[in-house]
Amino acid sequence: MPEGDTIHRTAAALRTALVGRPVTRFIAPRLYGPTPTAGRVIEHVESHGKHLEILWDDGLVLHTHMRMSGSWHLYRVGERWRKSDNQMRVVIEVPEWVAVCFNAPVVETYREFDIHRHPGFGKLGPDLCTAPVRDLELCARRIYEYPDRDAVIADVLLDQHVACGVGNVYRSEILWSCAISPFAPVSSLEPSDCVQIINAATRMLRANLSHGPRITNRDIPGGLAVYSRNGQRCVRCTDTVHVKRLGEHARLVYWCPGCQTRLAPQRDITPPSLEMDPHPAAAKYLSELPWRRDIAG
Ligand SMILES: [Zn+2]
Repeated sequence: MPEGDTIHRTAAALRTALVGRPVTRFIAPRLYGPTPTAGRVIEHVESHGKHLEILWDDGLVLHTHMRMSGSWHLYRVGERWRKSDNQMRVVIEVPEWVAVCFNAPVVETYREFDIHRHPGFGKLGPDLCTAPVRDLELCARRIYEYPDRDAVIADVLLDQHVACGVGNVYRSEILWSCAISPFAPVSSLEPSDCVQIINAATRMLRANLSHGPRITNRDIPGGLAVYSRNGQRCVRCTDTVHVKRLGEHARLVYWCPGCQTRLAPQRDITPPSLEMDPHPAAAKYLSELPWRRDIAG
């Protein structure tokens, strides 16, 4: 019977083998939920007790619960499995590695923050794309009265019990447009801040209802102020856009420390900076600095 720490170690091994690699083969004969798209990249592997969750870059989560009998094994491609094929419940193959889950009674997929999976968490928030004004006021109040007072606003915005529609791109863009720190504890927000955030979210979501590239700011080349612009200059204050992983699923949050200073926590409670390859434009900029050229020459 696997204990939480066994699954913890399993998750660490799976993380090393799977994260950052595209899935070349996925088999799950008893899967409940949508099938992961071939070629999508695994972004995160996480364990909670006997639950193991694998998150893809399009927000799909594979949840397996081990109960008494289940286990995950990791093999090299072509290596012989240590359990029989008929006990197999999931196969995830990436270049070089095959992760196999045997005998897990629960194998399901869902999109992040799917309310149907957490019926105990209460009612789903109003949909910002369609909600009438009185429901928008309710969303603002749900932020203001958010039960976890230490939660940071960037995480609260992804909680679909507050409001539906805000995803990982929008949360960064909304907070930039409000000049509010993504790490502001929800307890520090005034009612007017909550209204401003919901208004910005509603405006952005409704402006992007038709298909096409997501644009949150028409005055910025590319249409986005901070999302995926790490290492580039902020168009408002010329400081450098930063990125960090945040929250349960460690999704990326982008922000400008130069102008998103409102409600920034006094002491630094932010997670350590992410080591990422700089944006291509930033890398080019760095490589063309005069002293770099001198070294190269
Ligand atoms: Zn800025």
